[in-house]
Amino acid sequence: MRETKAIIDLAAIRHNLEIAKQLAPNTKMMAVVKADAYGHGIVQVARALASADAIAVACMDEALTLREAGISTDIILLEGFFSEQELRQAFEYQLQTVVHQESQLKALEDTSNDAKIKVWLKLDSGMNRLGFEPEDYQTAYERLSQLKTVEKIYLMSHLACADDIDNAKSAAQISEFKQYLQVIKGEASLANSAGVVAWPESHLQWIRPGILLYGCSPMLDFTGPQHQLKPAMTLESQLFAIKHLKPGETVGYGATWQAPQETRIGVIAIGYGDGYPHHAKSGTPVLINGKTYPLVGRVSMDMITVDLGLEDQFELGDKAILWGNGLPVEIIAKHANTIPWSLLCGVTSRVKFLWQD
Ligand SMILES: *Cc1c(COP(=O)(O)O)cnc(C)c1O
Repeated sequence: MRETKAIIDLAAIRHNLEIAKQLAPNTKMMAVVKADAYGHGIVQVARALASADAIAVACMDEALTLREAGISTDIILLEGFFSEQELRQAFEYQLQTVVHQESQLKALEDTSNDAKIKVWLKLDSGMNRLGFEPEDYQTAYERLSQLKTVEKIYLMSHLACADDIDNAKSAAQISEFKQYLQVIKGEASLANSAGVVAWPESHLQWIRPGILLYGCSPMLDFTGPQHQLKPAMTLESQLFAIKHLKPGETVGYGATWQAPQETRIGVIAIGYGDGYPHHAKSGTPVLINGKTYPLVGRVSMDMITVDLGLEDQFELGDKAILWGNGLPVEIIAKHANTIPWSLLCGVTSRVKFLWQD
């Protein structure tokens, strides 16, 4: 049987939550589980994160999946409601919503409901994606405070460059947001994982870690273990064929890699059809029996090839780790010119998921 598996370590997720709490003591935590908990399984992860003060999702479908699974934790819709129907659902399912633009504010003003809702009013402090312009922020707050359906208003904004400690933009965004916090009193949130790790000034009352909970460093050129984080996903498969190559022979599509000397090529049962990145370059490490071997040649849909050399002993069926325990996904992302967020979210349904407590 083709054994291509993603093993999800829920204890690691709980451990990473504790690390986040240590990094930002005295704050409340909104644990981010959007995009199927960054590919780790939204329901299983939300259950493991029961000790978080709230969980955050991107959209209504994700929130409803959690409610249908019986999860009663506070849930925040990070992009807010997309329609009047979604606003009604937010009331019905007791979801908190981000309010980031005029149309949402207007919809809240125009709606009547016996229930009450908690909202997160978003300021655009420089990301230029979602949020009210600074000059409109206070008015938006005042309009929301008039509404009987609004139970509580939290304040939020989002950092654009927090992964880069040398970038001055974070300090500018923090001070922009803090100006408003002097005028508008309320619980506020700014820090994503990189804010939690690198910008204590951004911690405020609520932190919003995502990638950190899954054991990855949010910082450029760092890996999770450097912050005492444990990888939550280990993607593994097995060696299922071995080829002997003579010097000068090539491997795979496009014959992009040529053996400089006699060697053995190991074929591993994982490819871009499973979510292993097609753009992983020759040299990307693969962990077999505790040692890394370089990927060589192009990634195929169902297979990759690695240079095993001539020294070590292998057997068909030997386990190969593509990322996770012993091989941070940050390193693979770097070799594939992508980011760990994208790799974790991209594991496909062909891979067998196993959750371990
Ligand atoms: C996804 C998201 C986060 C979490 O980001 P990480 O970099 O994964 O920690 C925080 N806040 C908002 C608004 C988000 O959309």
